[in-house]
Amino acid sequence: MAAGQQDDLAFGPDMRMGFLGGGQLGRMTIQAALNLDLRIEVLDPDPHCPCARIAHQFTQGDLNDAEAVIAWGRNLDVVTVEIENVSTEGLTALKAMGVQVLPDPAHLALIRDKGTQKQFYADHGIPTSDFVLIEDGRAEVLSRGLPVVQKLRTGGYDGRGVQVIRTEEDARYAFDAPSLLEDAVDIEKELSVIVARSTTGEVKTYPVVESVFNALNLVDYLVAPARISEAVEAEARRVALSVVEAMDFVGLLAVELFLDKGGRILVNEVAPRAHNSGHHTIEACGTSQFEQHLRAILGLPLGDTAQRSAAAMLNLIGGEGANGVPLYSGLAAALAEPGLHPHLYGKATVREGRKMGHITVLADSPDAAEQRALALRDHISTVHAH
Ligand code: ADP
Repeated sequence: MAAGQQDDLAFGPDMRMGFLGGGQLGRMTIQAALNLDLRIEVLDPDPHCPCARIAHQFTQGDLNDAEAVIAWGRNLDVVTVEIENVSTEGLTALKAMGVQVLPDPAHLALIRDKGTQKQFYADHGIPTSDFVLIEDGRAEVLSRGLPVVQKLRTGGYDGRGVQVIRTEEDARYAFDAPSLLEDAVDIEKELSVIVARSTTGEVKTYPVVESVFNALNLVDYLVAPARISEAVEAEARRVALSVVEAMDFVGLLAVELFLDKGGRILVNEVAPRAHNSGHHTIEACGTSQFEQHLRAILGLPLGDTAQRSAAAMLNLIGGEGANGVPLYSGLAAALAEPGLHPHLYGKATVREGRKMGHITVLADSPDAAEQRALALRDHISTVHAH
C-alpha cells in the first residue's frame, strides 16, 4: 500500500478501502476518491442506497451485525465510516486483525452514546451545557427543573431523539429510555467547525459555518463563513480543536457548537465523519471535506481549508406528503443561474423529511449567498412524480 510512503503516491487495485454505510456522505466521498484513483467498497443494508450503483464493490449487510462487518472487512486495508451507528465490536475485531480502522472504534463508541460523549466534555473541561444522565426517562425527567432538553443516549439522529420539555404536561411524552437531560441553551447561533487530523498528527480547521434549522430540526440551509466576530470565530475554532486534541482523534470531526446569547461557545455534539455543514466545501474551499477525510486517514498532507467564496447550502428535503419517485420541481429552471451547484443523492424514493440532495450557491458575501438560498427555497420543492 502506497499510503505509508512519504514521497510517492499510487493506489493500485490491491489497495482496498471500505466504507461502512452507503448514504450521501459515502457517495460524495467516492466522488473525491476517484480523483485520487482510490477504490471504495461499501457495506449497507439497502441495495438501493446512494452508493450502491457507484461503489467499486457493494455488499448488502447489517452495519450493526459484528459478524457481517468482520466478514466484509477482513480483507480490506483501510476501513472508515460515513455513519456512527455501526458495530464498534466488529470494527474492534477488524482492528485486532490488522485492518487499519479510522476513526478508531473507541472514538466511535464514545461519540455514539450522547451520555458518554457529554461526560467526556465535562471531564476534560470542554465548555458544554450542564447535564445529568438518567436511566428512567419518564420518572426522572423533571429532576432538573424546566425547561430541559431530553436526548436519547443512543439511536437518535437529525433531531429525532431530542425534545425540549417545557411543561409538566410535556413530561408525559418524555422518552422512556436512558437519556441525557441538559439545560436548554439560549441560542444566538448554531455554529459548526470541521476539523481534520491526520495519522501524522497534522491538524486543520475549516472556517466556521452557521446553520439554520427548519421545523423538523433538519438543517434547512447554512451560511459560510458564519457572520460572527473575529473573536467568536477564533474561540469556536479553539474549542473545536480542543475536542480533537482531548480525544486524540484521527479522521474528520465535525464539532457542532452553540453561541449563546451571553457570547459563550458551548459544544453541543460532534460527528466523527463528514457532515452536512461541510457540503459547501466542495465548491467553496480549497479542499472538500470528503477529500480531506481521505487525506487524513491515509496520512497524506492535509489540503488547504481556506474559503475561496462565500457560500450557502440549501438541503433538498422531501416535502409534506412526498412518497414516491423523486421530482425536484423548479430545479431545472434554477440551474440557469451562475454559481449554483446541484447535488442529488440518488435515493430511489422521496419521503417527507428525507434528505434528498442539496444545492450550494456561491456569492460575493454570506448575506448575498443567504438571500439566493432563500429565493431558491421558495422556488424549488422536493416532491414525488405523479
Ligand atoms: P441530533 O444528533 O439528532 O442532530 P442534537 O443534539 O444536535 O441532535 O440536537 C438537535 C437540535 O436541538 C440542535 O440543533 C438544537 O437546535 C436543539 N438543541 C439541542 N440541544 C439543545 C440545548 N441544550 N438547548 C437548546 N436547544 C438544543
